[in-house]
Amino acid sequence: MKVRSEIPPVYVTQPLLPPLEEFVPYLEKIWANKWLTNGGPFHQQFEQALCDYLGVKYLSLFTNGTLGLVTALQTLRITGEVITTPYSFVATAHSLLWNGIKPVFVDVDPLTLNLDPHKIEAAITPQTTAIMPVHCYGHPCDVGSIQKIADNYGLKVIYDAAHAFGVQDKAGSVLNHGDLSVLSFHATKVFNTFEGGAIVCPDEKTKLRVDHLKNFGFVDEVTVVAPGINGKMSEINAAFGLLQLKGIGAALQKRKAIDTRYRSGLSGVKGIDCLSAAGERVASYAYFPILVRNDYTLSRDGLFQELQDNGIFARRYFYPLISEFSMYRGLASASAANLPVATKVAREVICLPIYPNMTVEQCDFVIDLIMKQ
Ligand SMILES: *Cc1c(COP(=O)(O)O)cnc(C)c1O
Repeated sequence: MKVRSEIPPVYVTQPLLPPLEEFVPYLEKIWANKWLTNGGPFHQQFEQALCDYLGVKYLSLFTNGTLGLVTALQTLRITGEVITTPYSFVATAHSLLWNGIKPVFVDVDPLTLNLDPHKIEAAITPQTTAIMPVHCYGHPCDVGSIQKIADNYGLKVIYDAAHAFGVQDKAGSVLNHGDLSVLSFHATKVFNTFEGGAIVCPDEKTKLRVDHLKNFGFVDEVTVVAPGINGKMSEINAAFGLLQLKGIGAALQKRKAIDTRYRSGLSGVKGIDCLSAAGERVASYAYFPILVRNDYTLSRDGLFQELQDNGIFARRYFYPLISEFSMYRGLASASAANLPVATKVAREVICLPIYPNMTVEQCDFVIDLIMKQ
């Protein structure tokens, strides 16, 4: 039994929450006008404010990111097979199964941990209709190569952008790539509305279709054009999102400072690798993954346990791989032989705590623990 440190437990993340009293005026407005959901005033304002902040043209708010993914596939009428990554949160592949689509797993790049574009073509069959990559940990995918393949084979591209809130590459928002991008505003994400999400759309026509699909397929009081779902965001969540936007800039700065501190603190530790830094790119600093290699003094799970024994509740994102869960492991593409990089990384990764209010002392405590093993 290890000695527990005297500091209180540190979890992998802590939700961004503005002062409660700042939310009260928003609630008073909702109570006054009694418009609770179905595209109310806060919903409209929040959609516009997010478009402005993120630098995208059109966006449709959702109850959560998973319904956003499910609806994005419906929007583009995706069927058959979709190429995706095993190294993600299960919702990525689940959204395919919910649409009766067969996921085809392709391995990830060892440096970015995103779908490896060099391995996509070999997985394309006559049934393939789309690619669903993930900007893992907010690191942008190789969007250029993916689009080239999609264009060559007539495939759609739907990005799971759950980690990529506010992320920009040289061309601007990373959310403008592909046919659609899906965001999550879950409590554990960089930007949250308790639960929530959004589909980023390239044009007004697509946004209209998404808006219909998230409202049962209604286009007016008496006309239903598709078997839609209820994916609408409520006024409470939209109002909260508007308030959250005011604090997001400062929150990202604090995340960046923690990221920088970890990087310099861990840079000399033998057997511990960090992913490449964002550099000049505008990043989300959503996660701080480290890879525990063979030449570290402990195994990955040994270090994970050591951290836990000291009150540091890190997480092994993404372990197990999606392809290892029972509903996927029977697929030919789910074999470890097909996914050597993802399989190795899933056994090396630990996501260290990172959140805006994490203190320098907490960060240094984690670094010291990893250094002294
Ligand atoms: C969080 C997450 C989702 C699901 O989002 P919810 O809003 O929780 O439904 C999907 N994909 C990835 C990669 C995620 O991290």
